[in-house]
Amino acid sequence: MTAAVQWPASVRYQDATNVAPGGLGFVQDLLNTASQGKPRQPDLLEAVATAQEWLDLSLAVVNGIDPDCAPEPKTVTLDARGLRSLRSLRDRIRTALTATTAEDGPASVALPPVETTAAVRLDSDGARLRPRGKGVELVRSYALIQLTAASYADTMRRLKVCANPRCRGAFYDRSKNCSRIWHDVATCGNAQNVRVYRARLKARAVAPSSD
Ligand SMILES: [Zn+2]
Repeated sequence: MTAAVQWPASVRYQDATNVAPGGLGFVQDLLNTASQGKPRQPDLLEAVATAQEWLDLSLAVVNGIDPDCAPEPKTVTLDARGLRSLRSLRDRIRTALTATTAEDGPASVALPPVETTAAVRLDSDGARLRPRGKGVELVRSYALIQLTAASYADTMRRLKVCANPRCRGAFYDRSKNCSRIWHDVATCGNAQNVRVYRARLKARAVAPSSD
């Protein structure tokens, strides 16, 4: 058996069964830089130093699994502006994933589009998308390429955000009918959270449509 890939942020909250395959794990890791868990773990994107440390480690993992298409860790150096942009990317991806699993449909969640550039290359190894740009833009490009590939493979709907508002951990749903809503039933799917979640759904169903 090969050792499971250890994403530096996700490893704080998720066991190997909850980790997304391949480069999609990087997107999950970005989401899991947020402060979560019990006891509460720090937000790795709080300061440039911790964010840079996380990014170097996470891109090193990317290089290990996806050497042809990975951004080189040492080429992405963060400053205050880059950090803001990375945080914004994290928020927008989380909103997008919440939207795709929203009970009343993706259209119910307002989401400004996130755009990037990528290069397409066809050679004897096949056709690949490669990230483009400098600094955080390179990271954004790589993350969106992974989400695009997951959309085509119909696996993006399996990358989810835990329904517990105090958790919001990103997990990969491997269940047969893709029906999980908690990253971990034992810690987040307790009776009280289930009641709050159901009440929220009910309130939404009763509320008049805004359009
Ligand atoms: Zn959770």
